[in-house]
Amino acid sequence: MSTLDALEIHLVPVLTDNYAYILRDTDTETVGVVDPGEAEPVEAALTQLGWRPEWIILTHHHGDHIAGAERLAGGYNAKIAGAAADSKRLPPLDAAVTAETGWDFGGQTVEVIETPGHTIGHIAYHFPRARALFAGDTLFSLGCGRLFEGTAAQMWDSLSKLAELPPETRVYCGHEYTQNLAAFALTIDPNNPALRQRAEEVVQLRADDKPTIPTTIGKELATNPFLRAGEPSLKHALGMAEADAAAVFAEIRRRKDAA
Ligand code: ZN
Ligand code: FE
Repeated sequence: MSTLDALEIHLVPVLTDNYAYILRDTDTETVGVVDPGEAEPVEAALTQLGWRPEWIILTHHHGDHIAGAERLAGGYNAKIAGAAADSKRLPPLDAAVTAETGWDFGGQTVEVIETPGHTIGHIAYHFPRARALFAGDTLFSLGCGRLFEGTAAQMWDSLSKLAELPPETRVYCGHEYTQNLAAFALTIDPNNPALRQRAEEVVQLRADDKPTIPTTIGKELATNPFLRAGEPSLKHALGMAEADAAAVFAEIRRRKDAA
């Protein structure tokens, strides 16, 4: 079995445009649910798979990521993992994790990456063996989360940590926002051929009612303007050739918020 198969991942659309994910470690058959913003569709998917989760895994405290957590934890007698820093505003945590503690899911080492910006306590979960990242609302395909709590500098720092992961790492984010974000990305980086190709692919996927997720770190480095704020061509196009990447990132974020 290839290491990529170390984790089986099922995507579950919830609410309007959120994704929850059902995971299973293929060695130990440990099952987890990431960011259940709603319980019912996750329960239906679990029933179909015949699986019972041992863990509910949370990236941040927003309702569209946690609203189903306590019902699932109660119904399946599952435990909840989340950021120690946000334990006061998350459901009661059985595993309160930090970058220092890391985590373990069914014997797989999980790297906890602290990604303040969207919220202060936001974390992402990196499964190195499976080459998978659960990014919540920090990194989207072709975008990033809004700055509800952190500063642009913090978010740039957080995204820079994710950008350093192996390029083949599959990225599972919290929302299906890609088509809207592609249209915005093209206003920032219109001459990027990789972006233009991805934008076309995304239109086709959505027309076929298919998810645009997962993406990969490598694809995002080539196409996502929020990760490309340090690129000379992009800086030049924004008239910010002399600015540092964090300042360029802040300007792109400002433009998206105003769009
Ligand atoms: Zn959020
Ligand atoms: Fe969200």
